[in-house]
Amino acid sequence: MIPPGETIGILGGGQLGRMLAMAAAQLGYRAHVYAPEADSIAAEVCGDFTCAGWYDGEALAKFARACAVVTYEFENVPVPPLAALGGTAVLPGLNALEIAQDRVSEKRFAEELGGRPATWAQVDSPSDLAAALAAVGTPGILKTCRDGYDGKGQWRIASPADAASLDLPAKPLVYETLVDFACEFSVILVRGADGDVRFWDSAQNVHKGGILAHSAVPASALVLAQLGEARDLAARAAAALDYVGVLTLEFFATAQGPVFNEMAPRVHNSGHWTIEGAVTSQFENHIRAICGLPLGATALAAKRVEMRNVIGDAAEDWAAILGDPANHLHLYGKAAVRPGRKMGHVTRLTL
Ligand code: AMP
Repeated sequence: MIPPGETIGILGGGQLGRMLAMAAAQLGYRAHVYAPEADSIAAEVCGDFTCAGWYDGEALAKFARACAVVTYEFENVPVPPLAALGGTAVLPGLNALEIAQDRVSEKRFAEELGGRPATWAQVDSPSDLAAALAAVGTPGILKTCRDGYDGKGQWRIASPADAASLDLPAKPLVYETLVDFACEFSVILVRGADGDVRFWDSAQNVHKGGILAHSAVPASALVLAQLGEARDLAARAAAALDYVGVLTLEFFATAQGPVFNEMAPRVHNSGHWTIEGAVTSQFENHIRAICGLPLGATALAAKRVEMRNVIGDAAEDWAAILGDPANHLHLYGKAAVRPGRKMGHVTRLTL
């Protein structure tokens, strides 16, 4: 067990790191953020900040020596340089990070565990695309295998003729069929160092333009009917990885059951509602898990909980949002407003 008072290292300097650091502080830990960008919104709420690149082995080693445990809030941290962290435990383990960074390895991993992703084909170079379209069919979505987030690095392809006009990067891609889903949902679990697994209620998620717009709990009857299968896959994934911390799997609810979309080895935007809406938040339980503390209860704290992301210039409406006393407003402190940028979120409970 890592006792309160020790320092938790967080790789990545965004809003997930910020909320993890705030949960760590509540439990009496110090947080130390490591991020390449100087204007880290996580560092603002941390006792220590190392601003250095992902390939700076000396800075990583020094950071690790200052931390009792290291976690990550950003799944695109390059893995090989993390060897410089030496003997300091990294939780969740780097095996989860490696798999989740690559859409092909993530789909294979889910398939090996009995999960069903959308029909897919690897596109290692643009010349493979025609064969992938023929094998999978259209319409579909072409995605970069790595570094994509919030709908970035994705191209919708309605017909083979569409594909001809695409200006594709020279990077490995994956093409998958466009899933005809009724709705989307996520399964978020926490697994303790002793293998104790707890699930939060699953949120029904609405994405707009590839970005999460809204999550609501409880989910519809359709999602609840598919939850058993989806949770089994998530639990098998956590066990296979000997996972410690919060793990998220996203699914499409279809007439044929849950279709696996992707896995995030971290706290997740579709779990932000747990801050006010669950007995213990995803952030607190992640800190508890990586420090070897007993896990907190994950039960709902209200009849219904809704979380809406505050995206782009919607953040300018903060006064109006606060004008409704039922709203819990979380702003992440990002200085620059950009279209599609997650600036904060609002949670509402129905008691
Ligand atoms: P991703 O980054 O893969 O999670 O994609 C972001 C969002 O785009 C998803 O949450 C869906 O709303 C949509 N999307 C991604 N892949 C598919 C697919 N194969 N079929 C239908 N919608 C998709």
